[in-house]
Amino acid sequence: MARKKKFKNNAGVQVLIGIVALVAIAFLGNLHDTNLLDSLSEVVQTDSLESVDNSNNTSTVTNVDGDLIIDYIDVGQADSILIRQGDATMLIDGGTSECKDDLLAFLSDKNIDKFEYVVGTHTHEDHIGSLDDVVNRYDFDTFLFPNTTATTKTFENLVLAVQQKNKKFTVPQVGQEYSLGEAKFQILAPNGDDYSSANNYSIVIKLTYGSNTFLFTGDAESISESEILDKGFNVSADVLKVGHHGSTTSTSKEFLDAVSPKYAVISVGKDNSYNLPTKTTMEKLQEKNIPVYRTDEQGTIECISDGTNITFNVEPGSYAYMED
Ligand SMILES: [Zn+2]
Repeated sequence: MARKKKFKNNAGVQVLIGIVALVAIAFLGNLHDTNLLDSLSEVVQTDSLESVDNSNNTSTVTNVDGDLIIDYIDVGQADSILIRQGDATMLIDGGTSECKDDLLAFLSDKNIDKFEYVVGTHTHEDHIGSLDDVVNRYDFDTFLFPNTTATTKTFENLVLAVQQKNKKFTVPQVGQEYSLGEAKFQILAPNGDDYSSANNYSIVIKLTYGSNTFLFTGDAESISESEILDKGFNVSADVLKVGHHGSTTSTSKEFLDAVSPKYAVISVGKDNSYNLPTKTTMEKLQEKNIPVYRTDEQGTIECISDGTNITFNVEPGSYAYMED
């Protein structure tokens, strides 16, 4: 896998990027790449961090009114999660480019008007594949994206779509909190800036609604999981979106112990060629008797919280696995 370049935010490096772009124009005449370079330096902003609260005070029960609705959308071997609270909406990832029509139809069916937040957890196609189409169709306030980039057409399409909206990616800071209606969410990762696997750049989010908590892990691997634990975050959550589609790379024993979820959700494609979810991960979940909802068996999974109780629209799935 190609090593991913990081966005550079300081002015000096941006000037350097500009010079590189000009040199490319002058000597290489490679207009395509030059456009992308220009786009990248212009399309990123870093969100300011006002305070970090690693204790992630989830024991506080605030009075909430209405429901939090989370749809773990069946997008095949990919991730896409729609979260609604009141009039506020957030989309975490947008599946592959192949699922574009299904995803847009789903959002349209839910009468989505605009998004407060769109999150691209990381650069892989199974997470950002259709986000350019989402951006083209819907307005959004904030597009959260990690401090990383890729040389793929998929990523370029997303950058250009965001830029055409006169918007930028917002790179969130670890520890930062945001509001989504009466829910709030905190950024737990990425905690590093030099990973060999793009998965570890995944933005990891803990969302709190009343006394209910939800963890969204993207494809973060055990290296990121242990960094989150090392930072002292309270990762305990009622519902865990199992990392990396149930791969062995994620859901380390230590992390699963710390999260101690009541329910697990796996976004995974039926008969996928990656042999996911794996035996290792499914046995860990079964050992703890954690009910597992999986998009390959249950299709789109809707999870509703009233701030105290969590219900699902389907029965849990099996602990069946593909071989590691
Ligand atoms: Zn993935």
